[in-house]
Amino acid sequence: MKNAIKKAAQAIFYSTKTIALTGAGISVESGIPDFRSPGGLWERYNPIEYGTIGAFQTNPEKVWQMLQEVSYLLARARPNPAHTGLGKLQELGLLQAIITQNVDNLHREGGATSVIEYHGNAKTLSCLWCEQRYNSDELGAQIPPRCSCGKILKPDVVFFGEPIPIRALQESYELASSCRALLIVGTSGEVTPANTIPETAKRAGATIIEVNVEPTILTGYVTDIFLQGKASELITELVSEVETIMPNN
Ligand code: NAD
Repeated sequence: MKNAIKKAAQAIFYSTKTIALTGAGISVESGIPDFRSPGGLWERYNPIEYGTIGAFQTNPEKVWQMLQEVSYLLARARPNPAHTGLGKLQELGLLQAIITQNVDNLHREGGATSVIEYHGNAKTLSCLWCEQRYNSDELGAQIPPRCSCGKILKPDVVFFGEPIPIRALQESYELASSCRALLIVGTSGEVTPANTIPETAKRAGATIIEVNVEPTILTGYVTDIFLQGKASELITELVSEVETIMPNN
């Protein structure tokens, strides 16, 4: 493992453009379970019934039973060393952007400055009727939360069946097709179109580094350096290794 971390650190340090793609796994150690592991949300809530935009439009009260659980977890979560480690890489000028599928805001809270939120951010909510927007902090404890027009609010996250925000889609594609290294952390690679980012980077000739507790569908397909283990531990080690290569260290 030490050797693989060294190789990954060198790939990041010597690459002219490194980006990261993160998924639910990076926030598991912050207390937010991922969706696919046993006990995850989708074991208890059928995604067709609770996760689609159609379900929200038809019965927002029902979908808020699930969203209430998510909101509770998000409100208590704090960035872990994997989030702060990526923030540190940005501070060192070695990580151009983080494309995250997460909606938990933990990259920004962990010090990252360039973050593309591919699936939105649950910190804000909007009214699908009058388009008024709210910060979650300005809303009371009432569930489901309502707009001043009386309608039920929807968190600004991408539900199944909704398009990816066009700017996030374009920026991610441009970054992936021009990067020299891609650091993938805690994603199963099963959600489209985010899972096309690794292949785009690979085709562009980037070195693909993957951090996950277990191999994924990406591992044998695009990954060059697989670091198996917990994101918080491995990103901490990776950042320390990068710092040892840096001049003045
Ligand atoms: P996923 O649930 O499909 O996969 C999570 C991956 O993380 C798995 O491969 C798992 O092995 C790995 N993992 C779990 N714990 C880890 C750890 N400590 N260190 C490293 N890896 C770990 O997640 P996904 O690929 O991001 O897709 C799920 C979708 O659900 C995403 O679109 C995301 O928007 C959403 N989601 C977001 C959050 C969040 O915002 N924190 C949480 C759950 C789901």
